[in-house]
Amino acid sequence: MKVFDLHCDTATKCYDERAPFVQNGFEISLEQASLFEQWVQCFAIFIPDGLRGAAAYTYYKNVLAYIKEQSGLSFARRPQELRQQLQSGQGPSVLPILTVEGGAVLAGNLKNCEALARDGVRMLTLTWNGENELGYGIEEDKGLKPLGFAAVRELERLGIVVDVSHLSESGFYDVAKTATRPFVASHSCAKALCGHPRNLTDDQFGVIRDSHGLVGINYNQAFLRDSGPATIQDILCHIDHFLQLGGEHVIALGSDFDGAYMPEDLKTAAALPQLYEAMLAHGYKQSLVWDIFYNNAVHFFVRQALAHKSV
Ligand SMILES: [Zn+2]
Repeated sequence: MKVFDLHCDTATKCYDERAPFVQNGFEISLEQASLFEQWVQCFAIFIPDGLRGAAAYTYYKNVLAYIKEQSGLSFARRPQELRQQLQSGQGPSVLPILTVEGGAVLAGNLKNCEALARDGVRMLTLTWNGENELGYGIEEDKGLKPLGFAAVRELERLGIVVDVSHLSESGFYDVAKTATRPFVASHSCAKALCGHPRNLTDDQFGVIRDSHGLVGINYNQAFLRDSGPATIQDILCHIDHFLQLGGEHVIALGSDFDGAYMPEDLKTAAALPQLYEAMLAHGYKQSLVWDIFYNNAVHFFVRQALAHKSV
């Protein structure tokens, strides 16, 4: 079974708790993921809203140094390198992709985009829930700041994917009108089914679909149901909804492992086969399940790299 997960907070959790990265009791660990045929994992370094300016950038560097030292992992330093890793199928069974959750990491200086790209950051979530130097998260419906518009252009130039999860709705539409490349909501669900402000309206989903971007389904219970405990069946409802909006090549996985409240029947990475089986039992074709689990995200990052090369 192949899995491509667009978001987890495990890297930050390991750093904050000074826990081992390879083997731990977290919702996902390298050891756990390595039991699968292939597991591509976007490991986000989460920048808390309490950190701004130089402190945010320093925190990012500290987390990155910690996980590298703990795991010996290396990250693809260019979009082409990632494309080759994804296409060769010969790499390690766990392929890590470095991402950052929170544009505060730039410390208000776009020159830091190049430093991030050199470190191997392949995707940047522009905000967390609060305001930062680039714009506003879901706590306040204001759009991108001038630096945010410039950041979208600079990230695209460097081949770093723009992630709109956590961004305010106004900020989302500012990205949509500025972006020239497909963009991603790495860990968000459907607002039509659960009204949490972190979820996407049908219109937002359509904009991402039309940009040839991706939406990673978040397993967080609060994003799956307005009330009561959520289960794998709720995840299927959100997938059904996005499929009705023409999302068969847009939907991916965005677990939010180690950063949210998982359903009882999907507590850790070890339960992914249950999600897979539930999708088949729900009547999805095998090819659709593979697309959602893996292929849509692989194709997206391959397309990103090929487009970047031609710039
Ligand atoms: Zn998040």
